Amino acid sequence: MFVSISTTGTAENPASDLGFLLHKHPDKVQRFATTHGTAHVFYPESGEQVCTAALLLEVDPAALLRQGRGKGRSGSPDHALAQYVNDRPYAASSLLAVALRTVYRSAMKGECVHRPELPGRAIPLRIGLPAVPVAGAEGPELVERLFAPLGWQVDARPVPLDEAFPEWGDSRYVRLELTGTLRLADALQHLYVLLPVLDGSKHYWVAPDEVDKLLAAGQGWLADHPEQALIARRYLSRRWSLTRLAMERLALARLAEADDREAEEIDNAVPDVPEAPEVGEAGEAGEAVEGVEGAEAGPAGPAETVGPAADAERGGSLAAQRRAAILAALARTGAARVLDLGCGQGELVGALLKEPRVTEVLGVDVSSRALTIAARRLRLDRLPERQARRVKLVQGALTYTDARLKGYDAAVLCEVVEHLDLPRLPALEYAVFGAARPAAVVVTTPNAEYNVRWETLPAGRMRHDDHRFEWSRAEFAAWARQVAGTYGYTVDLEPVGPLDPEVGAPTQLAHFRLAAEAADTPEATTTAPEGSAHR
Ligand code: SAH
Repeated sequence: MFVSISTTGTAENPASDLGFLLHKHPDKVQRFATTHGTAHVFYPESGEQVCTAALLLEVDPAALLRQGRGKGRSGSPDHALAQYVNDRPYAASSLLAVALRTVYRSAMKGECVHRPELPGRAIPLRIGLPAVPVAGAEGPELVERLFAPLGWQVDARPVPLDEAFPEWGDSRYVRLELTGTLRLADALQHLYVLLPVLDGSKHYWVAPDEVDKLLAAGQGWLADHPEQALIARRYLSRRWSLTRLAMERLALARLAEADDREAEEIDNAVPDVPEAPEVGEAGEAGEAVEGVEGAEAGPAGPAETVGPAADAERGGSLAAQRRAAILAALARTGAARVLDLGCGQGELVGALLKEPRVTEVLGVDVSSRALTIAARRLRLDRLPERQARRVKLVQGALTYTDARLKGYDAAVLCEVVEHLDLPRLPALEYAVFGAARPAAVVVTTPNAEYNVRWETLPAGRMRHDDHRFEWSRAEFAAWARQVAGTYGYTVDLEPVGPLDPEVGAPTQLAHFRLAAEAADTPEATTTAPEGSAHR
């Protein structure tokens, strides 16, 4: 099986730079061992104006068979024969996708040590695949639907079954040519995900970590793709539970990214003197401003008291007061190993690391974009070894149980629960209180009653566009007691921020502690609630 990647260039930007991008020298023929055979990379042409890199994968059918995964279509009439005679060695399938990733790994990640400016550039590309299997009746039309939204011009021609006998009709293969001006890394990611999607079958067992692979390769394009449901379903070999997980994480990633974009726009627009919050910005958006280095004072609090001076009087912005309240609660339980669940851009992670008592912080968020920003802000890549060992950021969805979250002293959910649809909340409750089961959990969420004190927030509006609900004090208390009762915790509630005699404080905090008797028999009394999704 074969794939060619061509580009064109000029004297200043010669096409042969493709060699740098692919990390393969144009003057050499190179061979790579892959799990299922040998990949050859060579350049049929390499000049200033045109350069083409070809990857030829020589599949070893015997190796494929030995691994027991070289099965033909499961619906094929003669399954036993199909093990020996099938299209696997020739057609561009999941085998080619894996080979592409093996051979062009750095290029796919957008890395180029020698010419770091190259991967960020969109370049004219032409990708040729002589035989792409297309499952189902849609054929060439499906190829168009998958690649066109990503900026490719698609030329997909059905390959006749036998050119000598046109009356036999077309085969299930298309000759595919994609042209477009894209970054090479994106192009490779598209192929890596979409070739197995077109093929409709994988040569290996689809394990749950395929969801991570799909989301990693799909970052930046899959969440907005009109066919994302079809892509996820087929990529995950129609495993329904995995597909649902992928779709949920994609939806969350989309929201989180919209959030981040909004926060970034506000970051960029932040004036020297903070203005009163606008509709939908009174909550995290204001805090995002606050989180930026050098812009500590953000809009927080009622309009008449907004401003750095007022913040100082009240002991810092609302976000800072919230962090202080969380740190104080954690200090009371002496927590050393702490989870920051829905850590966002890492402000609390940073504050936790400043506490000498804290030996380990695991930040979890569904938004890889937020995590990237957090890693940058915390300068994770430059921390000395001993510090670096104290902190880890991982991507995860809190509505699913996750073994990585077990064994911690405390978990924090700072302004997170209100981002979940109410029907999904029991799943988070189970994942955190039932499965991860830290000795203490600190939850903060807006107090909806306080919203009337935000002059710029119209009546009935929530503080942030992505909030699915905001609770009154009574509602939060009822929820906290119910969760504590279900999972064997005790709970204390406290207000955070300036206390208004009528409507309370802007933030409410619940401090859960594992009840002593329950602590002896972790997970003894807890089972998943009806309808909660967990793995
Ligand atoms: N705790 C941070 C961020 C709060 S914003 C702070 O106080 O600054 C809410 C965060 O929760 C976002 O970063 C969002 O990506 C994350 N989030 C929302 N739903 C989630 C889910 N189901 N799983 C994991 N993270 C989620």
